[in-house]
Amino acid sequence: MAESTLRIGLVLPDVMGTYGDGGNALILRQRARMRGIDAEIVSITLNDPVPESLDVYTLGGAEDYAQRLATRHLLQYPGLQRAAERGAPVLAICAAIQVLGHWYETNTGERVDGISMFDLTTSPQSKRSIGEIVTTPLLDGLTDQLTGFENHGGATTLGPDARPFARVVHGDGNATADRSEGVVQGSVIGTYMHGPALARNPQLADYLLAKATGTTLAPLDIAEVAQLRTERLAAGARRARDERARERQR
Ligand code: GLN
Repeated sequence: MAESTLRIGLVLPDVMGTYGDGGNALILRQRARMRGIDAEIVSITLNDPVPESLDVYTLGGAEDYAQRLATRHLLQYPGLQRAAERGAPVLAICAAIQVLGHWYETNTGERVDGISMFDLTTSPQSKRSIGEIVTTPLLDGLTDQLTGFENHGGATTLGPDARPFARVVHGDGNATADRSEGVVQGSVIGTYMHGPALARNPQLADYLLAKATGTTLAPLDIAEVAQLRTERLAAGARRARDERARERQR
């Protein structure tokens, strides 16, 4: 951490941040403060250049048009790319995976160049993936199952420099045959999980915080978070059951 206050970048909340994804920055700030670490959220809008000096960055989901505005801005002001090059942790949700890739195809078939922080591409699938998702993390340091809500039309194919963030237990994730979910490349993590993801997955929040502060963090036991996780993990299993039942009726 460069200074004594942890600085959390909330990147382009004016165009990217569906389903409360801005909550990821709030969770990081709260979990830092609960450990006595001073923390603030730095909101970076379309009116601001993207600073490269922040300690951790989060980006949320978006629909196609908003996604395009974000892509253009991040290409014009490459602060996020520079921060990732020096190893700053970044969490990219849903559309942000697509924007950070080489290119994505919109649902009208148009190909839009991304910012190539991730070695991946995204094309529309025939049906949208909507519902609760449960996965098993593949990242060292994460052991708890992950829970989120997904809502995307894109299917994401990883190239050799990117590895999957998790394996799908219930839901679609990257919507590819290997049942992969999300992406990890260097210090940058992408996931299709809304939720917000860090409210549902405190271990992932603390993973990012530990990287951002360069310290080991004492665990936090919050009963409401444990209850939320129990409910959401059960909802993921319900989605899978419902989908199987619909499949049988066909
Ligand atoms: N527009 C993208 C898709 O449908 C991302 C959607 C989202 O971020 N919720 O794949």
